[in-house]
Order: sequence, then C-alpha cells, then structure tokens
Amino acid sequence: MSRAADERFVYDFAEGSREMRDLLGGKGANVAEMTRILGPERVPGGFTITTEACVAYMGAKEFPEGLEDQVAAALARLEESAGKKLGAPADPLLVSVRSGARESMPGMLDTVLNLGLNDDSVVGLAERTGNERFAWDSYRRFVQMFGNVVIGIEGARFEELIAAEKRERGVSEDTGLGVESLRALTARFRELYDFPTDPIDQLRRSIGAVFDSWSGERAVTYRRINRIPDDWGTAVNVQRMVFGNMGDTSGSGVAFSRDEVSGEPEPSGDFLPNAQGEDVVSGVRTPRDIRELAGWQPEVHAQLMQILRTLERHYGDMQDTEFTVEEGRLYMLQTRNAKRPAQAAVRFAVDAVAEGLLRREAALLTIDAEALDALLHPTFGADATYETLASGVAASPGAAKGELVFSAAVAIEAAAEGRDVILARPFTEADDVAGFHAAVGILTSEGGKASHAALVARGMGVPAVTGASSLEIDPEAGEIRRRGGEVVLRAGDRVALDGTAGTLTGDDVPLVEPVMGEAFEAVLGWSDELRTLGVRANADTPEDAERARGFGAEGIGLCRTEHMFFGEERNEAIVAVILADSDEDRRTGLRKLLPLQQGDFEEIFAAMAGLPVTVRLLDPPLHEFLPALPEVEERLREATAAGSADVATLEHDLARIKTLQEVNPMLGTRGVRLGILFPAIYEMQVEAIFAALAATRDRGLEVSAEIMVPLVDYRRELEILREQIVAIGERVGVTRGRDYTIGTMIELPRACLRADEIAEEADFFSFGTNDLTQTALGFSRDDIEGRILGRYIDVKVFDRSPFETLDTPGVGQLVRMGAWLGRKAKPELKLGVCGEHGGDPDSIEFFNGSGIDYVSCSPYRVPVARVAAAQAAIRG
Ligand code: PEP
Ligand code: MG
Repeated sequence: MSRAADERFVYDFAEGSREMRDLLGGKGANVAEMTRILGPERVPGGFTITTEACVAYMGAKEFPEGLEDQVAAALARLEESAGKKLGAPADPLLVSVRSGARESMPGMLDTVLNLGLNDDSVVGLAERTGNERFAWDSYRRFVQMFGNVVIGIEGARFEELIAAEKRERGVSEDTGLGVESLRALTARFRELYDFPTDPIDQLRRSIGAVFDSWSGERAVTYRRINRIPDDWGTAVNVQRMVFGNMGDTSGSGVAFSRDEVSGEPEPSGDFLPNAQGEDVVSGVRTPRDIRELAGWQPEVHAQLMQILRTLERHYGDMQDTEFTVEEGRLYMLQTRNAKRPAQAAVRFAVDAVAEGLLRREAALLTIDAEALDALLHPTFGADATYETLASGVAASPGAAKGELVFSAAVAIEAAAEGRDVILARPFTEADDVAGFHAAVGILTSEGGKASHAALVARGMGVPAVTGASSLEIDPEAGEIRRRGGEVVLRAGDRVALDGTAGTLTGDDVPLVEPVMGEAFEAVLGWSDELRTLGVRANADTPEDAERARGFGAEGIGLCRTEHMFFGEERNEAIVAVILADSDEDRRTGLRKLLPLQQGDFEEIFAAMAGLPVTVRLLDPPLHEFLPALPEVEERLREATAAGSADVATLEHDLARIKTLQEVNPMLGTRGVRLGILFPAIYEMQVEAIFAALAATRDRGLEVSAEIMVPLVDYRRELEILREQIVAIGERVGVTRGRDYTIGTMIELPRACLRADEIAEEADFFSFGTNDLTQTALGFSRDDIEGRILGRYIDVKVFDRSPFETLDTPGVGQLVRMGAWLGRKAKPELKLGVCGEHGGDPDSIEFFNGSGIDYVSCSPYRVPVARVAAAQAAIRG
C-alpha cells in the first residue's frame, strides 16, 4: 500500500486529546488530555508516534516515509521547550520511549528509559545535577534496558552481573552500590553488545524495538486472551524524563483515585522514595503505602490528592495514575481508567452516583457486566498460590474443593454423608447428572462450554472444568493419569478447581465466599428500570426456579423436561418407555411417569407463581437415556453364562437399542420428531402440564404456562403438535390463549427462513441459539472446544467461540430474519432467546437491537443479563 508522503505520524502532547485514542493509543491520548487539564508544568513534554505508523512499519518492515523527519521536528520542538538537547554533553535532555496501544496491555509491550546517555552526557548530567551516583545509575539502567529491549539480551545476564558486584561489595540492595560499582557495571554491560552512543541512533532503534514488541510472543498471547485485534498496532510515546531517583526528595509511585480492590472512596497506591517508576512496579523493592506520602512530603501528597480528584471528575471514572517526584516537584506521567474487580466496579458506580459524579446511565456503563459473575460464586482467594495440575475449559464459574470421586453413585453416597466431592468423568452422560447435584465441582477431560455437562453445571451453579485434555480420567481404575503417562490423582485425593479460570490443582487453596451486597442490589435495581429487554431463567427444578427468582428472573424461558428424567427410578421408567414394543406398553410406562412429572411442574409453577413458565417438551436424542450398547451386551453375556431368567429381556433390550442407534444422534430422533414418532411421550407431558396447572390454580396461585415444541423445521410439524395439544386441552377443559400458549424453539436454519409460516401455528418463538449455532455453522457443540476452537482462534478464523458469543454476521442474521418474518406474519408474536447466548453481554446487546422481547439464561447469569440488558438499552 502506498502512503502519502505527507501523512501525519507524529503529534505533540499539546495537540492530542482523549478522543484520539485509536490513533495515539491509550497512553498517548491520556497524556495529551492530562496536559490540557493539569497544564504543561505537571506533565513532562513529549510527542506520540501514531499507531498507524506502527501498522505501516509492520507491513513494510521499515519506518514509513516521512516518519524520521517528523520525529526530528517534534524532537526539536521538545528540545526548544525543555531548553536542552537530547544527549548534549553539558546538560543532556533525556527521554523515555514507551509503548501505548489502544487498550492497555500491562507489561506486554516494551519501554526504554533514560535514553540520551553516553560516556559524555553522563558526565554533564552528573555535573548539572550535582549527583554523580544518580547520573551513573541512570546510565547503567539505560545500557541495561537498551541491551535487553532493543538488542534482545536476556535480562538475567544483567542481573547476574549486578548480583556479582553486590557480593563483591558486600551490599544487599541495588541502592547500596556506589559510583565506582555503577561505572564498572556499565562497562561490563557494554561488553555484552555494541552499544550505540549517538542519541539519535538510540532513539531510532528504540522506536523500532517498541514497534517490534507489538509482534512479540508475550503481546500476541495477551491479545489472543483479551481479544485485541492484531492489526491495531501500538503508538510510541517519547517523553522528557523526570527523575524519581535524584535523591531523598525524589520518588516514584502509582496512585488510584479510589481503592482498586474494594472500590472504597479512598485513594490507594504505592510509592518508593529515590526510585524510578520501574522499581515500583517490578517488585524489586517493597514499596510504601501512598498514605505515607503525607508524612514524607505533605505538599506533594496534597497536590496528588487534588489531581486524583480532578482527573476522576474529568474522566468520570476511577483513575489509575503514575507519578514521579523530582526534587520535591510532582509530575504526572500517565492516567487511565482503572481496571477493577467486580466488587470495586459496583461500589464505584453506586458511590459515583451518590456523589453526583455520574448519572445512573453513565455509572452503569463503567461496569464490566461479564465480571459480575464473580460476585455470585466462591472464588480462589486473590492471593492464593498453587500449582496448576491441569487446565481445561472454564465451563461453569466458581471454585470448589473436595475429594475426588469417579461416579455419580459414589458422589451421591458421599454427599449424603456430608462430604464435599469433585466428580471426575471422561465426559458426562445423562446418568451423571444426579451426581452433579451431589458434587461441589465437576471435572471432565472431554467437552466444552456448550456441552451438556457444562450447561447443566452452570444451571445448577456447580463449578466445572471441562475438556482438561492433558488428563486421562479412568473411572474403572479410579485414577487420573497424565495422557499416556504417570498417575497424578486417585479416588479420595483432595483437589480444588476453579471453573472461572478453568484450572485444577491438588493444593489446598483457600476459597472466598461471595457476598451480594447493597451496592450490587442498587446496581441491579437501576438496571431493571433502564432495560427494555426482559430477563428470564433456564431452570428445570423448583430449587433452580426459586434461585432464579431470587436473582430477579421474570419467569422461566426454558424448562428442559429431559432433566426431570434423571435419577435412577425415573431413568428406569423412561428407558422402559423407549424400549417398549407397542404403543400400549409405552403408555403403561408413561402412566408411571405422569404423576412424577406433574409433581415437578406443580412445584415449578408454584415457585414462579404469577410469572410465565415455558415448559419444553422432551428434546434430546433418545440414546442419551439408554444404557450403552457394550454395557447391555456384557450384561447379556453374564446372564447367559449364569443361565439367568433375564436373558430374554436383555436380548429384547439389546435388539431395541440396536434399532434405535443413530450415526448422528444430534441430527436424529430428537425434538418434535420424537413427538411425531412416539406421540404418547408428549401426550403424557402435556397432560402432566395441564394437571399441574389446574392443581396449582386450585391452591390460589396464578400460573402462566407456555408449552414449547423443540427442533421444529416445518410448519406442518408444529401444526400436528398444536392440534394434539389443543385436543388434550379440550379434553381436560383448558383453552389455548386463555390458560396456556403454544410456541416453538427456533433453532434450525430452515425455521428462521420459514418463520412466517411457522408463526401461523405459534404464540411465541424462543431462539435456541445453541442448536442454531451448531446447525448453521455445522460445528458440534460438544466437540468444538477440545478439537477445533483453539486452532481456529490461533489462525484467526474467529476470535472467540461462536457458542459463547453469538456469531452475529451469520447466526445473528438468521435470528434477525426469524424475528422479522415471525412478527411480519403475527405482530403480537412473543420472541425470546434461550440458548446460552442469552446470558452473554455482547450477544445481549445484539438481541436488544433485534426485536427480541426477553433473554433467558442460567439462574446465575440472571444478574449479569439484567445489567447487560440495561447497558444495551443505554447504548441504544
Ligand atoms: C438451544 O439449542 O439453544 C437450546 C436452548 O436448547 P438445548 O440447549 O437444550 O438444545
Ligand atoms: Mg436445542
């Protein structure tokens, strides 16, 4: 790409502003803004080289045309205002060269300090400051940093030389090294590489090195994790150095406008006398609390406090600043909106409104809705140190610890005895779900975030790490091995897992319990007033329903009835139904299940009295309920050998299971297809719903039941089911529209494309974005994480899982089309989303603009969704 020779690549600080973040990077834009607010005396002068210059450099592998001239001109202006020249022997101007991307990437990009020193200017610096040690310390640091950052020499080689010098001199701290030592160290450092003495050469190469650091491994990894695009590039800030290491009236520090952990309205931070900023952040010396600044230099402390207030008011957000005190004079080097944990975010928002700093809308937008999840689950203590045994998918948030068990049955037994257990399975099946209730945490070696295990665990609020693929989980042997290697854990071992981070450890990590404090309640209250999108919960049990209501759910958007067939007794009954030869036998089995199912519905209706409850008829592939083929074969072999009377039954079951086997069960006999092939199952469920409805009303409670048919492709499918449901209703005396409604999941691409026809049969749609993603993209929701996801993110096919955040250009367009067509045919059609995306803030923003009435998500995501829905409404 050719570039205009007069393209502007360099801006003086005095020219920039915070609106220019994309071009000047966060640091450059904020330093410019700060220069305007606080005045040039408080902010050392300098200039910013744009992110566009970096992008051009990355493409061409050389500075774009005009950059060097523009840097020279900006440097000349800086020298003019500072009254000294870069690296001049008698009185040198020194500069720092710092990276600064659009979004801060703390510690990931490079920085060079004290640039401009050489054998001549170090003498001038010593003379001008009357501080020879300071001058040599600065020079030593520069040669070290340049060697490390620009030349690429390992930091440890410099540290070894420093350690040797300290040993020789018998001192323990760097500050104990005198001028002679620093001089000797500088000389030794210079033997490691060819140090450029020309300041302009130093500057040119440092700028190149900062550009290069954007493509360094550390930065690339960080961007991947934080979803920062690779093509943004970093800006480079060249700033006049001020010195915190000039003696006892100098120092450096970091200061937050409020406590960065709790959010309390007291400034916090650290500082170190006689030190440069790097010393404070690198952890080489133990810093002092910012409050002690008042005792050390009261005037500086007062100025800093005033500045923090000014900056916070100006930005309307909590600030994170760096400052330097040079011989009693305070300079501000940078400011940015502070990163903060959820509790601090919530506290700040509430205080900011109370103080009149922000309006509610603006205060809500300072909160990262996704992070609020942490306020609802126990977590590993913030200071906890532990050795990670394995990493997997962070499938269900929260932390847990307990003893390792390998089967649902053992988990249930242990829980009955009051023991905390972590259930480990290679992957999970319907049978395991009873064990989920009993376990405090779940670990699997296969599966991802959209897998059955993950969504059941999230719904229950049980922390889970899935797809820990470095482990082989062997329930038979009762042990976990490294893949192809040694045993690392056995049944009964205590482990801790963090489902928020996706880690497993054998260490006894302290857990911190969550508190849903007043501030959080206040934030949720505002969210409810400001949002237009409804928020319901996906809940399958009365306990989940109650919990969801407690978290503010406005109804149930999805009750997955298949989850009601877990548990030994019910599982046996449903298996008998599935394996029955005739409709009559099937109906007999179903008669047993009806009262159980009715009881479940009654409790759920009662827990949600007055609010809508969407009950979905049975959906999953039949094989999920059936025993595995090899297992039945084995039982048959044993029974035959023993001459048992069970042989005939087992033979029958085996034959039936074989006929029901499908190569691709996810695309097989599930959803409405099940309803059409085996009408008796849905019939029983509908009868149970109606009976529960009547019984709950008899208790004086209001019920609003919505019957939902899954996996509909064709209008005719829903028509058949509608007729069947209405007929049952007429039989028992309930009427569609008055007592209940009928709707469908929209979770197949064809359903989106023909939504107008389907709407003719429906009172509501609920978009099942899990299956819609699976079928539109053709990725298996159960397998993508372990196999494809990581590599696809690496090679930038996409930057996050489409099962986590909706693929808006693809699947999102199907949702929009379905919503639009549906409403065109039937304006009063109610529209919901009940896939996992219903709890994801970015997806919620999209749904808010797509004509959706409500989202439905797991109970623990309800508060997150309430805040995210409000933010979407505020952003418009
Ligand atoms: C969906 O497919 O989005 C959905 C909610 O249904 P399930 O996850 O139960 O398939
Ligand atoms: Mg589905």
